[in-house]
Amino acid sequence: MKKSVVCPYCGTGCGIELEIRDNKIVSAEGNVNNPVNEGHICLKGRYGWDYVSAKDRLKTPMIRKKNGTFSRDGVLQPASWDEALGLITSKMKQVKNDFGGDAIVGNFSARSTVEENYLAQKFMRAVLKTNNVDHCARI
Ligand code: SF4
Repeated sequence: MKKSVVCPYCGTGCGIELEIRDNKIVSAEGNVNNPVNEGHICLKGRYGWDYVSAKDRLKTPMIRKKNGTFSRDGVLQPASWDEALGLITSKMKQVKNDFGGDAIVGNFSARSTVEENYLAQKFMRAVLKTNNVDHCARI
């Protein structure tokens, strides 16, 4: 079965034709009808799909814990999204209060939509008070 997707790796947004067998991606080719890449794709877009069905793929947030609470030298343990996001929020507040917003760098993903990236950079500038905003699409 063929499935047309947009490559998730960078902001170029190449069109990809995935070949799927037994619910597993077995190959990828550039979509010749996509005006962005006209059939061309880089190594990531062509070969970087094994993570999708990797047995050790993370499916839940992980937090390093020692004695039931976050610890840098703790052991990674599965956590709920609420717990993970709560920990991130508290750590961001702590860094902002202790060192200022410029101590935080926001690096956003090409997997997000333009709207999501807009909101994320707005959050960095308006809430954390920093212009340290980066994006993996700068290729
Ligand atoms: S340049 Fe490569 S990584 Fe970026 S969207 Fe195209 S195929 Fe994917």
